[in-house]
Amino acid sequence: MSNFTFWWRKSSQVKKRRSLQRNRHRFTAQADILASIEIDQLTNRGIKGIILDLDNTIISEDDRYLSPEAENWIQQAKLAGLSFFILSNGKRRYRVLYWSQRLDIQAINPAKKPFPHSFRKAMTYMQLPPKQVIVIGDSFHTDVMGAKFCGCSCIQVATLPHPPRWWERLAGKFVQTPYPTGYELWEFYPAAYQSFL
Ligand SMILES: [Mg+2]
Repeated sequence: MSNFTFWWRKSSQVKKRRSLQRNRHRFTAQADILASIEIDQLTNRGIKGIILDLDNTIISEDDRYLSPEAENWIQQAKLAGLSFFILSNGKRRYRVLYWSQRLDIQAINPAKKPFPHSFRKAMTYMQLPPKQVIVIGDSFHTDVMGAKFCGCSCIQVATLPHPPRWWERLAGKFVQTPYPTGYELWEFYPAAYQSFL
């Protein structure tokens, strides 16, 4: 083995070990819905802040369904001392304003996930380092990748039923988990948006 090959292998091993040490706090998991996540398990792992996705995590993109018990779960998590921030890639500002006010959580939209800029803004707002923050969302390419880029933990929830976009017909199964059959769905009435339009 040449000196160069030896050095190259050695330095990549060191880099890998350092990266593992740096990210040892980070975990990625999956859940059916937001309300099925154990709040105690998050706090026991040192999580103090949650960056939450909106579309198809809390409310379906077409505003038909609300994730069961989501609001109650958020209230419970707040009582347990967790901070929240919403990052939405959605372009309809009135929806994000409505949910930001209804849930009493600061929000950024369009957040351009998975790019780290808005994730960093959310962490600065919550005054928390990445190891104390978890991202919860339904899409791998935006929420999970964004969490990975920023060094945060992540839980991917099943996506609420919604009319698939063109790219979701092709690649949806690779980036989203379908909503479990038989799981209840709560209806939502978009008339509530009227005063935000
Ligand atoms: Mg989403």
